[in-house]
Amino acid sequence: MSSIENHGSAQDGALAAPQIAQAALAASANSPLEYVDSCKLPTNWATFQLHAFFEPSTGKEHLALTLGDVGNGEPVLARIHSECLTGDALGSQRCDCGPQLELALQKIAKEGRGLLMYLRQEGRGIGLLNKIRAYHLQDGGADTVEANQRLGFAADLRSYTMCEPMLKHLGVTALKLMTNNPRKIDAMGKINVTITEHVPLIIKRNPYNERYLSTKATKLGHLIQPEL
Ligand SMILES: [Zn+2]
Repeated sequence: MSSIENHGSAQDGALAAPQIAQAALAASANSPLEYVDSCKLPTNWATFQLHAFFEPSTGKEHLALTLGDVGNGEPVLARIHSECLTGDALGSQRCDCGPQLELALQKIAKEGRGLLMYLRQEGRGIGLLNKIRAYHLQDGGADTVEANQRLGFAADLRSYTMCEPMLKHLGVTALKLMTNNPRKIDAMGKINVTITEHVPLIIKRNPYNERYLSTKATKLGHLIQPEL
């Protein structure tokens, strides 16, 4: 904001911000995903371009990191990553989300070109607080699928519908998809994008994620060996 625009009192500014936000929400009410803005994001691996999106139907904010020219029609090395606060930010060893996120960003940096979609659907879609409840049940012996079901949720509530407008905005038409999850491969098959390659992301096991990874393989059909 320039100094000329910023001549009002602090109180004026405080009133204006919610009005602008409301107007933006109203304008985006009919759009499945609204592009908001982009910036540079220097990281340990590369300086990515970070793109922000707003999903009016859920009120959620989603992100995409890109490296290089992803809109030139060539297949793009890509990862669809659902938020996991405990794994991504806190170093939790209960799951493999943090190492998968890091490995995907490393691979994109090495390739010099790629895309990571960061979707805000924590705990396979049940939310952070319910994920903590599910972890408590797992502390008592339930596996990841049983815990979700005992809380009244399906094993996996994640949706990937927001990927279509995100890919369209970025001009991406073909993916080399880094995933072990056949549901993501199926979901991409239903939208207007071609999967030219599946790139597995193999993460080392530890004593804490051993049962989680085996359950993903045996109950959720992930393409990883139960005893790898
Ligand atoms: Zn996780």
